[in-house]
Amino acid sequence: MKTMTCKQLGGACNQTFTANTFDEIAALSKKHGIEMFQKGDPSHLEAMNEMQKMMKSPDSMNQWMEGKRREFEGLPENK
Ligand SMILES: [Zn+2]
Repeated sequence: MKTMTCKQLGGACNQTFTANTFDEIAALSKKHGIEMFQKGDPSHLEAMNEMQKMMKSPDSMNQWMEGKRREFEGLPENK
């Protein structure tokens, strides 16, 4: 299992997510992002806006995802 924070995954807070795979952790952070979005949390709204700007270009989105995937792969396993 590895741990990343909301911030590390393009979000806005220090909430941590723990998962075995990058896809799993990406899904957790997305779920959290949607929850915070529904609560109207301003810092997450801003983070989501940034994310949406990036999603307009599939290339930069893919590059970002690949970068995060590598970051995840490079993390040490939780003790
Ligand atoms: Zn967050």
